[in-house]
Amino acid sequence: MRSHSLRLVIWLATVALAGIVIIQILWLDKAFRFKEKQTDSSIFIALKNVAEKLLMYNDNPSTLVNPVKQVASNYYTVMINDVIDAKFLEMSLKNELEQRGLFLDFEYVIYDCSGNKLVYGNYIEAEKNAFKSKINNSTLASLPNFNHDNYYFGVFFPKRSEYLLGQLDVWIFTSVILLGIIVFFAYAVWVLLQQKRLSEVQRDFINNMTHEFKTPISTIAISCEVLLKPEIIKTPERLLNYATIIQNENNRLKKQVENVLQLATFEKKDLHLNKEAININDLIRKVIKNIDANLKNTNTQVVLHLSEKPVVVNADSMHITNLMYNLLDNAIKYSKENPMITIYTENKKNGILISVEDNGIGIPKNAQKQIFQKFYRVPKGDIYDIKGYGLGLSYVKIMIEAHKGNIRVESEEGKGSKFIVELPVS
Ligand code: ADP
Repeated sequence: MRSHSLRLVIWLATVALAGIVIIQILWLDKAFRFKEKQTDSSIFIALKNVAEKLLMYNDNPSTLVNPVKQVASNYYTVMINDVIDAKFLEMSLKNELEQRGLFLDFEYVIYDCSGNKLVYGNYIEAEKNAFKSKINNSTLASLPNFNHDNYYFGVFFPKRSEYLLGQLDVWIFTSVILLGIIVFFAYAVWVLLQQKRLSEVQRDFINNMTHEFKTPISTIAISCEVLLKPEIIKTPERLLNYATIIQNENNRLKKQVENVLQLATFEKKDLHLNKEAININDLIRKVIKNIDANLKNTNTQVVLHLSEKPVVVNADSMHITNLMYNLLDNAIKYSKENPMITIYTENKKNGILISVEDNGIGIPKNAQKQIFQKFYRVPKGDIYDIKGYGLGLSYVKIMIEAHKGNIRVESEEGKGSKFIVELPVS
């Protein structure tokens, strides 16, 4: 699928999902408000009935005008200005709430109107289909009776919100399913993008390989053409010359194929490390000496800031040498002119640190994580002039991890890059 149509499909699917989520939230909110209204009015009527029952119980013929007031979302007061028998009040509250299926914890308090004093209160716990009766008949009988005619009571529902949410179980279930769908969708998009990236990386790799092989193949073709001319027999030195070219180019091709195949199939599990105590400072000096010709050719200056004390680590010297070659090779390759490389080593608390810094073209922020992946090369037009297969840093990372170390890069485009390697001592 082409890039922009893939992006369009992802966008459309995201917008559709966002729409479904918004509708679900709106419906959930509507259902919650509806349930809230229903519960509030049931509580209101239950409390009004309790107030009327109390008056009847007290043989009070007067009628109450709006005795129930919802002071807060979960707190009601009921003005009766009469005698309150706590036992009767508690039983009536339970009965009225029970009749309406309102099984939620409540706390009732009795106030004395004259001084607005709290005189009694109790907490009643609700179970699934009943109210828990902590009090037995004897405690019930001992509940106080307030005999003056100026009391009112308040009822507080501390778990009202949880109760309301519990009533929306079907809605919550469908919301969880929707969430599952979104997670699955996000995962599918992630896999799709990973696949797309992989195919892009492979395409770049193939382009790159083709480019690398083209030159020796065409050199061989030209040489063969010359050799096929009959008059070449007359100039044996030319014949030898072209045969040597073919042999050299053929060797180069062979070496390149071997390198690529070896690196491309290289995995951590194939590794056999021949560990020995190596002095990193000596190893670095040796590597610099070996690449001296390349440094001169490219006008590269190397500055060494090596720790004065020997930096010794237990590692496979062949692989550590290779990875130093790779880091230095990149530092030279990805610098425009007069490369300047600074190598630093340090003994740390539990290991050693090596850094290789250059003043090259730098690596864009979004590519810094990916450069350690196999076949990845920063996709930038002019970089393709620089030879490579995107395998060097993946080798470096695999090696460092096999030694239980880590590598990271700090880089700014146009200013340079710094590769920092940490290896444990043992
Ligand atoms: P190769 O150099 O063969 O392409 P590597 O795995 O060594 O492969 O590097 C991967 C990519 O990381 C390179 O293609 C390049 O884009 C980027 N890169 C690596 N080292 C540097 C560096 N020192 N400066 C800038 N870019 C770098």
